[in-house]
Amino acid sequence: MKVSIAAAPLLSILPEANFLVDNMGFCCTTLEGTSLRDQVFYPTSAAYNESVKQVFAGNARLSPSCIVQPHSAEDVSMIVSALAQTQCQFAVRSGGHTTWPGAAGIEQGVTIDLSMMNSTTYHEDKGVASVLPGARWQSVYKTLEPYGVTVPGGRSGAVGVSGFLIGGGNSFYTAQLGFACDNVENFQVVLASGSIVNANRTSHPDLYQALKGGSINFGIVTKYDLKTFPHETLWGGLVIYDNSTTAQQIEAGVDFTNNIHNDPYASWIGMWGYNSVTGQNIVANALEYTKPVAYAPAFEGFLKIPNITSTMRLARIYDLTNELGQTPGYRYIYTTGTYKNDATVLRKAIDLHNNYIEQAKAQVKSSYWAMDTMIQPWPKLFSQHSVEKGGNVLGLERFDENLIQLLFDYSWNNQGDDDLFRRLGESILGELNEFAKSIGADNEYVYLNYADKSQNPFKGYGEKNIEFISRVAKQYDPDGVFQVQVPGGFKISEV
Ligand SMILES: Cc1cc2nc3c(=O)[nH]c(=O)nc-3n(C[C@H](O)[C@H](O)[C@H](O)COP(=O)(O)OP(=O)(O)OC[C@H]3O[C@@H](n4cnc5c(N)ncnc54)[C@H](O)[C@@H]3O)c2cc1C
Repeated sequence: MKVSIAAAPLLSILPEANFLVDNMGFCCTTLEGTSLRDQVFYPTSAAYNESVKQVFAGNARLSPSCIVQPHSAEDVSMIVSALAQTQCQFAVRSGGHTTWPGAAGIEQGVTIDLSMMNSTTYHEDKGVASVLPGARWQSVYKTLEPYGVTVPGGRSGAVGVSGFLIGGGNSFYTAQLGFACDNVENFQVVLASGSIVNANRTSHPDLYQALKGGSINFGIVTKYDLKTFPHETLWGGLVIYDNSTTAQQIEAGVDFTNNIHNDPYASWIGMWGYNSVTGQNIVANALEYTKPVAYAPAFEGFLKIPNITSTMRLARIYDLTNELGQTPGYRYIYTTGTYKNDATVLRKAIDLHNNYIEQAKAQVKSSYWAMDTMIQPWPKLFSQHSVEKGGNVLGLERFDENLIQLLFDYSWNNQGDDDLFRRLGESILGELNEFAKSIGADNEYVYLNYADKSQNPFKGYGEKNIEFISRVAKQYDPDGVFQVQVPGGFKISEV
């Protein structure tokens, strides 16, 4: 384990105990000794298997000794208190959309599955939506729709709210409102001690700040109070093009990214994708305009490129975020990098994408597989909004230029290909990083919510934020329960 200077004090306070891995079922028995015994499920039960199936990536569907499903913050408090005292290992899962195994799951330990805590309540007087941690974005949008309001959230409706919000959260509205985490008014958190606290601008402001990007290092969030805003119909959809349009798409994408500040209602995700079923390597643009305006000039560069099909229409956010889902159950790997907004980097990324598809074809065993390369703008404007709203710990405000993010998203259905796609996913990122560095277009930021376990996203937050997150983690979890007993997720002590 590599330990940064900033994290060293945190680790130095951790007990040198041998943490139980629950091969005796001891941790589950402990939970059965509480009033929550009816909410503890074992591998032979239907509830256990249903819960495991909610995890998005097939390779992340681990088999814990038992799964406990709390129904309230008080239940979560009781569970954390019991597990912390016994030094059992546990995992915390909300929407289960992190693709790497062990991020939100565990073998031989307890998984706390928050999916029963999934409601959204709108407080019209305050303009705030209280969202429980096990909700998926589609249910949040659907609940808020009749009130004519919404919140910045996932662009794929099935994604969970928790991991998304505490890792940053890039929505259709980032250019207008900053990251989704910047729009959280209050986090209700269960700490390692079992106490339930509210973290906001006036109560535990350091914890409030740290949770805006600091992920699972402080406690379990049991409620998010999100600032709402009027929901208008959006103009959006998916436009599919032939791969021969790549050069034009890249030119349009770089230009779009450099001009978002002129029209922050427009958003773009560029997707280059090969799919073994169709055997085609196509380009798709997800274009979304967050006002009911068709053909906004901001999209001109993309719209003038001849397309094969288009679903662009006026629609509600619920509808548009249903369109952008990915199929659950396949095996997945995501790797990601951030670069200066430079056409040379993007051309290299797509050359590598085409080359890696050929490499996969030569070795793959799966009957289904897909390789996607996604491009998303991360302009300076995003972090300017974050700063205006009080700031977060992502550290993006220290970069002066417009950035662009690459996500390599591979899926397959044969476990025998796990090593192949991991090798390809890590290798393509390594090659692109090296190339970007060689032309001075590299950037150290790595988006935590897309990062693979082989990456170290906190390192890209900058030394000041690493020190701050370490200090807050130590303050709110002095025994290091969330550093050691919860091995999943990105840990500040492992930077
Ligand atoms: C198909 C798909 C689409 C996506 N679309 C977007 C997008 O549009 N924009 C974007 O920014 N990202 C997107 N993502 C990435 C997404 O933000 C992350 O996968 C995020 O972690 C999902 O949240 P979750 O609740 O499902 O996470 P989980 O996998 O359940 O948890 C993620 C991490 O958070 C911890 N955690 C979970 N709940 C809590 C809690 N209540 N308190 C404390 N810690 C907790 C877990 O232990 C784990 O370490 C997408 C991912 C996928 C697979």
